[in-house]
Amino acid sequence: MDFQDYEDKLVQMRSQQVFKILSYLKSVADPENLQLLHRLENTDVEQWPEAMGIHLCKSLHELNSELQSILAAQSQFDIGQYGYCASCEKKLEPQRLCSDPTTQYCLECQTKLNKAHR
Ligand SMILES: [Zn+2]
Repeated sequence: MDFQDYEDKLVQMRSQQVFKILSYLKSVADPENLQLLHRLENTDVEQWPEAMGIHLCKSLHELNSELQSILAAQSQFDIGQYGYCASCEKKLEPQRLCSDPTTQYCLECQTKLNKAHR
C-alpha cells in the first residue's frame, strides 16, 4: 500500500496547525501568550506539545492536541507502523485514513475507546 499521499497530507496539516497556533498566540497577545510564542519560535515543532505545557486555555489545549495527533501519525511513519491500528494492529480502513490521516485506531477500537470515555 502506498502511503505517500497521507505523508504529504500530514506535512501540510502540520504546517497549517503550526500557523493556527502561532496566529492564536498573536491574536490573544497577553504577556503569557507572548512568552509562549517566543518559546515556541525557538523550539522544534516536534517539541511543541511539551513546550506548551499543561496550563493551557481551552483553545490552545485543543490546538495542541490536534498538533499532537499529527506528530504522532508522523512518528508512526518513522517507525513503519503507519496505517495500522495502535491498539489491535490491524490495518486501518483506507476510507478512515482518507478522511483523517491522523487516525490511529481502527473503527472497532475507536468505537470501544469512545464508549470508554463516556
Ligand atoms: Zn484496532
